[in-house]
Amino acid sequence: MSRIDLHLHTTYSDGSRSPADVLALAKAAGVSALAITDHDTVDGLPDALEAGARLGIEVIPGTEISSRHGESELHILGYFLDCHDPELRHRLGQLRASRHRRNPRIIEKLNELGLALTYEEVKALAGTDSVGRPHIARVLMERGYVTSAKEAFDRYLAEGAAAYVPRELPEPAEAMAWIRAARGIPVLAHPSWVKANGAGLLKLCEKLKAEGLAGIEVHYSTHKPQQTAEYLNLARRLDLLVTGGSDFHGLTKPDIEVGVGRGNLKVSEKLLEPLKKAAALH
Ligand code: AMP
Ligand code: ZN
Ligand code: FE
Ligand code: FE
Repeated sequence: MSRIDLHLHTTYSDGSRSPADVLALAKAAGVSALAITDHDTVDGLPDALEAGARLGIEVIPGTEISSRHGESELHILGYFLDCHDPELRHRLGQLRASRHRRNPRIIEKLNELGLALTYEEVKALAGTDSVGRPHIARVLMERGYVTSAKEAFDRYLAEGAAAYVPRELPEPAEAMAWIRAARGIPVLAHPSWVKANGAGLLKLCEKLKAEGLAGIEVHYSTHKPQQTAEYLNLARRLDLLVTGGSDFHGLTKPDIEVGVGRGNLKVSEKLLEPLKKAAALH
């Protein structure tokens, strides 16, 4: 049984590898189908589809949208999107614009803390307009201010850290509606990041399902077996689809590899059929 990977980032957002590189890594890892899920963009999909056709790997058009959950974030993955949908493209453009309002304020805070860098440098390194904190982390690493992206997040960029600035974010219901309108399937990304568990997470997922949620990312690089079991139960209880992926980013998550996460991720290709059925019903 071959494996799949439904959560991957490329240079079109904050990943450090091009779509063609990611596809080559997937081929080497024995991945038969994958989804490119760049933050707030679908612009990497043509390159990915071309490389997928060349290598014999099925490429599912996707994206990942950050939405608001109280003071923190909830990420929604969208699969089987019509990436030409004008409304979706317009909304994603607005989300990328909100990144350009937030990022310079992060840089200002870093400058006040005595770290010398400019947003121009960050944008040049990013080479895309879906610019994220991992790009800032990479400039901090190149400058020698930190030795890892983790250190950059812990000290400066994470929620509550010294240079943290919140971003204007849509409600989960809005993000899911945009995905649905583009005939996509909305899935809750990495439920382990959500600041709720047990009964709280159940209640949240019930609410999200009423608003359009179709699935949960049960299998994820950093999930412990107990978490995977909990999320699988949750999905079954609420009749939600089960998905999984590595959240590969390259340099800023150096311990995570395409297809295998930290080595023990195995997302079965069997999960693909129910997802396709749901997409076809749209
Ligand atoms: P942004 O999209 O600018 O809000 O940045 C958030 C992204 O940063 C997340 O989607 C992750 O990909 C990444 N990220 C969050 N925390 C960390 C961390 N501790 N180390 C590396 N990357 C992180
Ligand atoms: Zn990311
Ligand atoms: Fe995410
Ligand atoms: Fe992600």
